[in-house]
Amino acid sequence: MDDRFHDECGLFGIWNHPEAANVVYLGLYALQHRGQESAGIAATDGAAFHVEKAMGWVADVFSPERLRRLPGHRAIGHVRYSTAGSSNLKNAQPITASAARGPVAIAHNGNLTNAEALRREMERDGAIFQSTSDTEVILHLLARSPAGPFEEQLAYALGRLTGAYSLVLLTPDALYAIRDPYGFRPLTLGRLRDAWVVASETCALDLMEAEPVRDIEPGEILAISDAGLSSFRPFPPKERLQCVFEYVYFARPDSTLWGANVHGVRKAMGRQLALEHPVEGDIVIPVPDSGVGAALGFSDTSGIAFEVGLIRNHYVGRTFIEPKQGIRHFGVKVKLNPLRETLGGRRVVVVDDSIVRGTTSRKIVKMIRTAGAREVHVRISSPPIQWPCYYGIDTPTRKELIASSHDADEIRRYLGADSLGYLSLEGMLKATGSDPANFCHACFTGNYRVGIGREDTLQLPLFSSQ
Ligand code: SF4
Repeated sequence: MDDRFHDECGLFGIWNHPEAANVVYLGLYALQHRGQESAGIAATDGAAFHVEKAMGWVADVFSPERLRRLPGHRAIGHVRYSTAGSSNLKNAQPITASAARGPVAIAHNGNLTNAEALRREMERDGAIFQSTSDTEVILHLLARSPAGPFEEQLAYALGRLTGAYSLVLLTPDALYAIRDPYGFRPLTLGRLRDAWVVASETCALDLMEAEPVRDIEPGEILAISDAGLSSFRPFPPKERLQCVFEYVYFARPDSTLWGANVHGVRKAMGRQLALEHPVEGDIVIPVPDSGVGAALGFSDTSGIAFEVGLIRNHYVGRTFIEPKQGIRHFGVKVKLNPLRETLGGRRVVVVDDSIVRGTTSRKIVKMIRTAGAREVHVRISSPPIQWPCYYGIDTPTRKELIASSHDADEIRRYLGADSLGYLSLEGMLKATGSDPANFCHACFTGNYRVGIGREDTLQLPLFSSQ
């Protein structure tokens, strides 16, 4: 039923706002698409830390009473879809700890490719871990870092990490916003009157009418305190590896990511797809919601009318139970329903963002045909996914990815489509409008440039600040 790559997590933080926890709650609402398994907020008034977190969606986790238990002018929040570490309350974030210098709360978006090795090393030294989450590894490293200014301790801990991380970290004195030196995951800074806010995506800033200021840069440690902002760049510059799948599927279309509006990029992908895989058709329909931008772009360039052919039920929870006997493909039908009036007798071009296992796409093609379509042409606004992600995205094993063992024509036959066209790698990267060299595309190419068979841990920090 849910044959997608799953996003990793969403982060939000605020400094100096009288209703800090309430604002974080709103921010997490806007970031709910980035994780639906747990939600949490840690708040402080500069002395005590208060944490509330639970399994479930933001709306279910936070009641007015719960938010009242989060006093203070500073807070961070997190929505989680489990990546490393299983899905349970112990792994919900923010995670808090008492370090020698005082309390710390941390929330993480990404995945550390060397977390297991670091965990084993520290366990051999007697460390006891509370969770299976790799975020706790960062806290243990921080606790073991040599004495010195907190930013230097942070640089020591981060210097041991390999992989993808955007972090928000709260101490009694400062809120830290951090991106790994490759910049895999987004993190952006905004201004809400006298308060500073940081968020995974700009759609969270829009909700509270905060002004976008700038992205946190790859490798940057931004400290926000009552003294203002200070930026530290303790590591040598690295190549950029921004996750191109954020544009393909994960990010919300109304967010601006790395300088480009996500919806605009998806439309550009659709336009490029129409150039690369033209087809005779009567209507172009999206698989809602993620295929909408690319379908609009495809329609623009091909001149084929854009139509709505599948209606999505937005109220399907993750706990839907499919009957074992009887109605087949019920799972997809509860989520999507075809519009017979639109599809009947038509040559339909159906646009989606990606194919993972192919099981859902096959059901969608069948559904469109059963609704009376004369032909079904599938167009995908990204290249074939052939490799799993190790950088914070929940993906199936390589064997389960249909494109890892089947070519496009075999996949077309499996889907039951009249034709199938995938956007090329070059076409996808061109549509971002950025330098193609700035992106990770390992799930399409197997070109893992960090951490996988290329251990580059223990970078010595070149400590500098501005
Ligand atoms: S492997 Fe794919 S999903 Fe993972 S970071 Fe790279 S582009 Fe994103």
